[in-house]
Amino acid sequence: MRFDTMNVHFPTKEQANEVSKTKPIYQTSAFTFKDFTEMEEYYQGNKNYLYTRMGNPNNDDLGKGVADLEGAEMGVATSSGLSAILAGVLAVAKTGDHIIATEDLYGGTYSLFKQDLADFGIEVSFIDLTDREAIEASVKDNTVLLYSESITNPLLRVEDIEGLSQIALTNDIKLMIDNTFATPYLLRPHELGADIVVHSVTKYIGGHSDVTAGAVTGSRELMVKAKAKMAMLGSNVGPFDAWLASRGLKTLSLRMERQCNNAQKLARSLETADGVKHVYYPKAASTKGNGAIVTIELDDAIDVFDFSSKLGFVKVVPTLAGLETSISYPIATSHRSIPDELRQKLGVTAQTIRISVGIEDADDITEAFEKALQAVRFEQQA
Ligand SMILES: *Cc1c(COP(=O)(O)O)cnc(C)c1O
Repeated sequence: MRFDTMNVHFPTKEQANEVSKTKPIYQTSAFTFKDFTEMEEYYQGNKNYLYTRMGNPNNDDLGKGVADLEGAEMGVATSSGLSAILAGVLAVAKTGDHIIATEDLYGGTYSLFKQDLADFGIEVSFIDLTDREAIEASVKDNTVLLYSESITNPLLRVEDIEGLSQIALTNDIKLMIDNTFATPYLLRPHELGADIVVHSVTKYIGGHSDVTAGAVTGSRELMVKAKAKMAMLGSNVGPFDAWLASRGLKTLSLRMERQCNNAQKLARSLETADGVKHVYYPKAASTKGNGAIVTIELDDAIDVFDFSSKLGFVKVVPTLAGLETSISYPIATSHRSIPDELRQKLGVTAQTIRISVGIEDADDITEAFEKALQAVRFEQQA
């Protein structure tokens, strides 16, 4: 099956004789057995489900749906992107180990790595991953993982995953990629050498801003470990949330196609707009498009708070990937926990606004931004 077909027809395991067109929701905390003998079958590996924290058909469908699109052997669905990252990391790293991560990380991941992994006794070095020598120089005997994002947040640098995978291979370390911004519609990191791929399903996989979930994919060997961590951390996704996310996933191709086209048009119009100092938008991220996030830096003279109030249907939302176009303010939200110094080095300033482009008519989106730019300029002149 080709990508778009697989996207809609990802397999859902039928449990009953009746074949419902949509997957039933297994809104249950546990599964029942005829007798102790039958329950023992679970422990022998002959039955799939015992207790929802350890596995549930809806959770498995979501994991499998993402894994299929990523071209991975197995996927594990979790309660959030961060818990998927933690399950993936702990499948590889333990106390005493060392991780090398990109310095332009999503803020939540940065905090998880900087504070919580440190508390677990896992050390993380934050490195400029465009500097190959810096990566090589930071590899230690106990380095087990190299971590980055396929398209970084918020300045949208497209990671050289193949280059990183060569470094990982020569140094015998695993490569893990957060593919939230690109989605498998645009980029499939496993094909470029990544061992583990992780998603905030909350974003494009779910796609409708109505669920918090995550997914991690990779080889069966690694994912069995990640699933065990998920079960022990209690970071399973609830059956209904998994069901909602699986339903959202089915329109990933359609949504991404429209959202990437809209983003391309918006980026083009903003490049020549008065009041916009810089437009960050990837040039050749993939053959299918360059993503649906556009980041802009406004001229210093523009009051960004004022600008944020003049965008009409474009609302302020501290997240991304919904059907509706929205803006966020990285220094106040996703990058609040990143130290000032590092933020400045990365180029995330008080004038930086991240736009998550939705599925509306492209002309309405570009007009909303044109009008807001005109309105703030007008006010400042008056
Ligand atoms: C949102 C996000 C996360 C965290 O996901 P949650 O679902 O909020 O836990 C991780 N990585 C990236 C790139 C994100 O955008």
